[in-house]
Amino acid sequence: METLLALTLAGETPAQKKGEGPSFNWQWHGEGVLELMPHADSKRSLLLSAGIHGNETAPVEIVDLLLHALFRGEIALQNRLLVVLGNPPALAENKRYLTSDINRMFGERWSQFTECGETARAAWLEGVVAAFFATQGEERWHLDLHTAIRASWHMRFGVLPQRSQPWDEAFLTWLGDAGLEALVFHQTPGGTFTHFTCERFGALACTLELGKALPFGHNDLTHFAATHQALRALLGGTPLAHAPGPVERYRVVQQITRRSEAFRLHMPAHTLNFTPFRQGVLLAEDGEERYEVRQRTEYVLFPNPAVALGLRAGLMLEKMT
Ligand code: ZN
Repeated sequence: METLLALTLAGETPAQKKGEGPSFNWQWHGEGVLELMPHADSKRSLLLSAGIHGNETAPVEIVDLLLHALFRGEIALQNRLLVVLGNPPALAENKRYLTSDINRMFGERWSQFTECGETARAAWLEGVVAAFFATQGEERWHLDLHTAIRASWHMRFGVLPQRSQPWDEAFLTWLGDAGLEALVFHQTPGGTFTHFTCERFGALACTLELGKALPFGHNDLTHFAATHQALRALLGGTPLAHAPGPVERYRVVQQITRRSEAFRLHMPAHTLNFTPFRQGVLLAEDGEERYEVRQRTEYVLFPNPAVALGLRAGLMLEKMT
């Protein structure tokens, strides 16, 4: 079962659906989903997901390496672990999605999309994750590994869902130690996988954006070394060196939404994530609606004029002090 990735890409069902590894028992729950139950007493349930967007392959390769290390006994597992490869058919085709973006569908928003493989997958994943997080008394973490479409002023950063309770500083510190240069805090709900686990299960959840994606086998995994090492330390309960610098924090101050065919985004196609804009600058227009910079400086994240109607064409951020 250490070959979860190969099995998933081939669309195969394993002959054996549960078994024992060096430091854990394992169970295959369905396509791309594997649970590892440690022999050690677990204080944390960790959901580790990758490939929610099928063309974001480097994190999938990291998860594959971690599973190999666990099955070879190089990491002695200390946490309950659920590994999720999010969108197997899109992974096999190296596409972001086949019909619709899964990472907009969580929290039962899939019911508002035209039925397709991805709506069924989102609904099924919600059930699998609910069963995994049903165990009481454990800290719940969800790390959803992605790579960004475009280049960025911060090479690696995390996006955290809206949360009514305060964030655990130890969790935020771990994210910095995992190589993230910036953290972005959402202020409103969304259909992402991490918003779902944070809202429903109180999980400490983060979408990790780990640099630019390339097809399988073409990724330079050295760019991902800090994250890879931090995940190894987390799984094995071993100490981790602290990050040298401070982590910049941003909050979302507005969302640009493409509501009609008239939508125009007034920034070049190659605009980097975290590019600053001055107060008053016109960012986008959608018929009568105008999006302008309201704060002294706002920074753009995920600008994308080509999204489907009703979806996010960009986020504007301000720095937190
Ligand atoms: Zn992604």
